[in-house]
Amino acid sequence: MNLEITNVSALEILDSRGRPTLEVHVEIAGTFAGRAAVPSGASTGSKEAVERRDDDPSRYGGAGVLAVVEAVNGEIASRLVGEMWESQAHLDSSLRSLDGTEDKARLGANAIVGVSMAFARALADHAGVPLYRWLAGPGASLRMPVPYFNVVNGGVHAKNRLDFQEFMIAPLGAPNFAEALRAGAEIYGVLRGRLDKLGFTTALGDEGGFAPALQAPEDVLDLLVESIEQAGYETGTGGVTIALDLAASQFRSADGHYVVNGSQFDSVELVEHIQYLVDRYPISSVEDGVGEDDREGWMLLTERLGAHLQLVGDDNLVTNPSIIADAIDHRIGTAALIKPNQVGTVTETLEAVDLCLDAGFGVMVSHRSGETADTFIADLAVATGCGQFKSGAPARGERVVKYNRLLAIEAKEADIEFGIPLRR
Ligand code: PGA
Ligand code: ZN
Repeated sequence: MNLEITNVSALEILDSRGRPTLEVHVEIAGTFAGRAAVPSGASTGSKEAVERRDDDPSRYGGAGVLAVVEAVNGEIASRLVGEMWESQAHLDSSLRSLDGTEDKARLGANAIVGVSMAFARALADHAGVPLYRWLAGPGASLRMPVPYFNVVNGGVHAKNRLDFQEFMIAPLGAPNFAEALRAGAEIYGVLRGRLDKLGFTTALGDEGGFAPALQAPEDVLDLLVESIEQAGYETGTGGVTIALDLAASQFRSADGHYVVNGSQFDSVELVEHIQYLVDRYPISSVEDGVGEDDREGWMLLTERLGAHLQLVGDDNLVTNPSIIADAIDHRIGTAALIKPNQVGTVTETLEAVDLCLDAGFGVMVSHRSGETADTFIADLAVATGCGQFKSGAPARGERVVKYNRLLAIEAKEADIEFGIPLRR
């Protein structure tokens, strides 16, 4: 393959929080095209590739991305247009050397990942196959992921007193994706009714979950168990489980203490608190159970609970292949959250996934709290066969569009398997 890029351009658009982001368009050989929109996090890991913004207080409170758009239309387009490109890896490595920094801060990871994703789509268009087929490569087996629906939002995603960021439900026992989506939406509907009856607001947080004025995680967990059962599903791995993303870095103080529901914990006590919750509720997965810098806490958490449930690293691993390799070596967690914009290119994202799956580490492909109608990650989840996907609640257009994309893929791929693959 040797293809000429004939056009690269970007536009400043809005994300689901009403903040600016980029849409990038890449054209190959004057005929084939791909478009991608870039998401944006709120509880970001400190080692993520750097999202660049204008910092001009007179536009969007400093959050504008006109300089990033200009980087795509100017410097990046000049480097890419008119050149011949052999592969995604070829393009991505050129983008990285053009940027020249380790963390993609100069051009901006938001510029680079937008170009990288749009190029992947243009390549799929050129090959005449859907994006998930293109990303999977020839002969790879596709798989529908279990959706993790974030139905109650806390932390920095909602203005309530819940310290834990995400309370998710995962229909692990569903026979296929469509039925898993139905379970998620039905339980979400029952939960809305229960909250309403109890006099709580049913207004939504950033990821589409409810944001009730509750403070104790146990109160939310009780409500989830009741809602799962009232909707007619069983709790547990044969039915519907609960998954948490504590995003614990966000409630860790400078002196290393965690504050949950008014109580102070050191990292050993926080691990014990997680164990207490896991013993009482049907929890199958805990993400960022301790802070990203709390390496000892991560090791303790993994030693105590790693054999019983999935421990997902997000803020500490940031989709970065070398950080993930170190975590696997040191028994830090049992799975990685995968977000292309955390690392900045499609090639590095796929590398991170391969590394995990080869080592028997779990993988969950994920949206960001600031999203667009882009569905790239839905195709990525199917292509990698990782078996797990989180895109918020079964509500809010920017979340639902990804789940609907998965429905369409499942409908098209008649014999596609569903669920978490057995560990290699
Ligand atoms: P973010 O949160 O997109 O705001 O970083 C998502 C997550 O922590 O999983
Ligand atoms: Zn997270």
